[in-house]
Amino acid sequence: MYTNLGSRTDCAGSGRPLLAPGAGCPTIHGGILGFISVFLILAATTLAADCPDSATVKGVSYPVTERWCGKKLDTTLLAKPEQLAQLPDTLTYEDYRIYVLKETRDAFVRMADSARQSGVHLIADSGFRSPRFQERIIARRMAEGESFERVIRFVAPPGFSEHHTGRALDLVPSEARFVHTATYKWLTENAADFGFVESIPEDSTGKSYWESWHWYYTGDSD
Ligand SMILES: [Zn+2]
Repeated sequence: MYTNLGSRTDCAGSGRPLLAPGAGCPTIHGGILGFISVFLILAATTLAADCPDSATVKGVSYPVTERWCGKKLDTTLLAKPEQLAQLPDTLTYEDYRIYVLKETRDAFVRMADSARQSGVHLIADSGFRSPRFQERIIARRMAEGESFERVIRFVAPPGFSEHHTGRALDLVPSEARFVHTATYKWLTENAADFGFVESIPEDSTGKSYWESWHWYYTGDSD
């Protein structure tokens, strides 16, 4: 009914209702603020629309943020169940059962053997994660009240995580202080010899997405 110009229930055909019966239209300030709001909403929508990538959680498709745009994995990179192998218990956190590609496991075992000789114990607390598993992580956080956009600040949307490839490992402690550990220092000096790289490094943009505990097996050792 607000768009019915004939009944004058909106302001200048804008679709916005009159403030109150007989109160007339919003003041010039309200008009400018309204214009700015609309502009900001349009700008935000345009930013999201610029990225064709989206992720689906519980059947709903969400546009991804700038951090993830263009980073959706080609489906050929996703690990298949028959390609996976379990890491030895001695290299996993508590009783976690962690799977990665067989070649990732073999390289990680070799690297951990070498690290141990330097007194460094490499322990993994995450390896392969399927897109479905990633979706469940996000759905649980959203059920607790967080928005999709907020959750994906630090959690990859399903389809966008290197953990889907079976080549990524998170090492203990998988948190910001990892960068201060002897383990991190050892990895920066030696991991390339075993084909592992720090694939979410500190960047120069000032956006802090650095995951120093996340190491990716490229298959190419020095
Ligand atoms: Zn990771």
